[in-house]
Amino acid sequence: MSASAAARLPVIEVFGPTLQGEGRMIGRRTMFVRLAGCDWACSWCDTPYAWRPGALAPVERLGPEDLLRRLGALGPDCRRVTLSGGNPALHDCGPLVGALHEGGYLVHVETQGSRAPAWLGAVDTVTVSPKGPSSGMAPDWPGLGATLAVAADPDLKVVVFTEEDLAYAAEVGRRHPGVPLTLQAGNRVGEDDADSLLARLRWLADRALGLEGMGDVRVLPQLHVLLWGNRRGV
Ligand code: SF4
Repeated sequence: MSASAAARLPVIEVFGPTLQGEGRMIGRRTMFVRLAGCDWACSWCDTPYAWRPGALAPVERLGPEDLLRRLGALGPDCRRVTLSGGNPALHDCGPLVGALHEGGYLVHVETQGSRAPAWLGAVDTVTVSPKGPSSGMAPDWPGLGATLAVAADPDLKVVVFTEEDLAYAAEVGRRHPGVPLTLQAGNRVGEDDADSLLARLRWLADRALGLEGMGDVRVLPQLHVLLWGNRRGV
């Protein structure tokens, strides 16, 4: 395989400028590059079209130059890019990150913490989002530790639907006390609307405020869902 072919990434969508809807970077103006493929299968995944590429959404193989051109055309004055998925850590994004930095972009990554490629240390910020019991996934504590060890300026985000998820989030916080932690009210695509999301957010805020060991935790909704609903490309 040639170097240029190896640098091509499976891309589901490129969009923006929009607002980062989650975690420590919430509200920031950003472009998004969503990569195909995920090594997990969470029951409430809001982007299943990314982890079953080809079945629910077409995939394009794009290199760094292609992506820089597309990002520049969509958002000429937006110099922040979020690499998301799926799980972007499955891929060799090193050449893309280098090209984005050369192009003047700040690079943020969202990953669940199952893989820890070295290039996660070359980006600017990384949100690591391990999944609690309601996802159906088993905890991967070694993977989470390895990802946080390699990631540049990481923060943690745990989606919470249930008391069990909240206990899991507290355990994540206990194991990694130096990493900023966000609790995010869960969202089921096709079931939730603004009212049900706000009700879950209120429940989560009340529970987190009364819980020991939450430190300076943030409690947040998915901003983009409150603003624009469960739509792709926002
Ligand atoms: S890790 Fe993220 S992208 Fe993968 S299945 Fe779970 S929620 Fe979806």
